Amino acid sequence: MLRPSVSALFLVLSTAVSYGATRYDLDVTVTPLARSISVTGTLDVPRELRHGNNVTLRLRSAFALTTTSGTATQGTERGGITEWTVTSTAELPQQIHFTAAAADIHDQSILHVDAESAFTTANELPWYPLVTGATTSVGVLRFHVPDGMVVAAPGTERRRGEFVVDVPLLFWFAAAHYTVITGEKSSAYVLKERPLITGDLARIDAILQVLSREFGPYPYGHFRLVEVSRAAAQDAGGFNAFGSAGSIVTRSTSLDQPFNTAYYAHELGHQWWSNLVSLRWNTTRGNYLLDEAMAQYASMRGVEALEGDDAAERYRRTGYPGFHDDLYCYCAAGYFRLAAAGLDRPLLELPDDALSDRLARNKGGWIWYMLREEVGPERFRQILHAITAAHAFGDVSWDEVVGEFRKNAGHEIQWFFEQWIDRAGAPEFSVETAREGDHLRVTVRQPPPYYRAALEIELRGASTLQTLRVTTSGAETTTNVAIPFRLVETVLDPHYRILRWTPQLHAQADAAAAFLATRQALGAGGDIDKAASRARTLLAALPPRDTYAARFLTEYSLGLIELRKKSWREAAEHFAAAISTPTRLAEVLPSVYLRSAAAMKELGNVEGARRAISDGLSAASAAPEPAGSEATDTLEALAATLPAR
Ligand SMILES: [Zn+2]
Repeated sequence: MLRPSVSALFLVLSTAVSYGATRYDLDVTVTPLARSISVTGTLDVPRELRHGNNVTLRLRSAFALTTTSGTATQGTERGGITEWTVTSTAELPQQIHFTAAAADIHDQSILHVDAESAFTTANELPWYPLVTGATTSVGVLRFHVPDGMVVAAPGTERRRGEFVVDVPLLFWFAAAHYTVITGEKSSAYVLKERPLITGDLARIDAILQVLSREFGPYPYGHFRLVEVSRAAAQDAGGFNAFGSAGSIVTRSTSLDQPFNTAYYAHELGHQWWSNLVSLRWNTTRGNYLLDEAMAQYASMRGVEALEGDDAAERYRRTGYPGFHDDLYCYCAAGYFRLAAAGLDRPLLELPDDALSDRLARNKGGWIWYMLREEVGPERFRQILHAITAAHAFGDVSWDEVVGEFRKNAGHEIQWFFEQWIDRAGAPEFSVETAREGDHLRVTVRQPPPYYRAALEIELRGASTLQTLRVTTSGAETTTNVAIPFRLVETVLDPHYRILRWTPQLHAQADAAAAFLATRQALGAGGDIDKAASRARTLLAALPPRDTYAARFLTEYSLGLIELRKKSWREAAEHFAAAISTPTRLAEVLPSVYLRSAAAMKELGNVEGARRAISDGLSAASAAPEPAGSEATDTLEALAATLPAR
């Protein structure tokens, strides 16, 4: 299987280079004192993107462009990118000489320069000019950095600081006083001694191997794991990590944690899904499904392959420790909380926003997982290999992807996309058995709209069990089966391979529904009064055993709403009520203290605010990551605004 895919990839690669990728020859100078980056060199304008005597270039607005190959005119700015037009009096030369420079760089998202380090990536915003319409780059990058700094960048390092990129991608770099540890397929650029890093690199190699089998050959050569300090990450927008072709740049705090398989498998999944192949430019069908959802599928598969079936099942149900295992977790529980809060949407044409991103990660990852179960792992792999080979370094439309599955799934599969992607929701099944002579009558029921699902049903006896497979269709599916033992228990979908409601998921989701609806209303300009009345209704009818912290979350919601209305006293009371509930959520608690401190500050109660911050820092130290460090940062920032004692 591997050999034909590899040759197919190279065929596509050579056509892709001559088609979409722009060739560069660049000298990149980093000057820490001036906090500046200067990029000087040439770019070859692809033939199909040359229009007579001018060309338009897209450049991050922090940079200014000058050229000796014509006149550069600054055009409109949108989303942090400025469009420049280079005009020549005669026909535009094929090669444009330019300098792109930015000085006094600070508070820029994923762009940083100071005395200790510098980094950025064009995956965020282009830090060197991209020809409008071109999506990838190749060429040579020579970095000029102060003595003692080491540069990490894509491609092959021909000599120190000089990188040759012959695979189409978007350039990135990081420079700092790095120690470089080299593993088999990956290297780490670290800022301090990290005795466990060799083990981490071996795990990254193992994930790359699993995902290569799943998606096709890994295209970017040596993989680089790059550390940046917490202060630098804070200056550059407060990110935890960012991925580019062939790398992950991550803040020190996440390297201090034990290796997180789910996190790395997700990020490495993006090497194929968004870097190698992306959704067709300017199309909306399939938005998020080929990047975030597929990366999340990579994460689920990575955990299954490296840590086994039990870990994978836990992940599907309730999330993976240390990887967004919060209320929005990338798992069934996270999806059902959104659904209970009235925030579910069909996945087919997700708009660009945070809610879509969440749905793509929790339900979208599941969709690919279930599709693999439906068509079989081997066929699923073959189809994905074919897609990445045919569309490498380019894009693909959602309909082409669906077409590939319909053509090669081995059976009719349109229904799968209709029920899981074209409409919102998920099924809820129940099972019932009745003895009829020597046979057992097994009935699976579901409310409308009906789902087709291949369900495993475990018929358990005292010391033996029998597994039955039932494919559901309408309201009721009945099967007769002979079992040679006395039935003790019937368990539907024992390993939770189908995304479906359960009584426990209902209880869990209902407890958080008012809170998620409030967060959405506050964040997206929704109806706050409606959210408040929903929260009050829930508070009046709490379940007798508050297992899932419904009171805590709902009091917190009401506090947030009062805070928005600047009703500081009412807000403080709701936060106090949340803090004093017996069941609380560790990852949310630091934020409640934070908001409580903010309300007290507004009330002029500086001592109360200090106490809340101090309690919040304790709660943050006991909270899971990354919620803990994020809360620590914001609590410390609030403390700094209080008057000195
Ligand atoms: Zn992602």
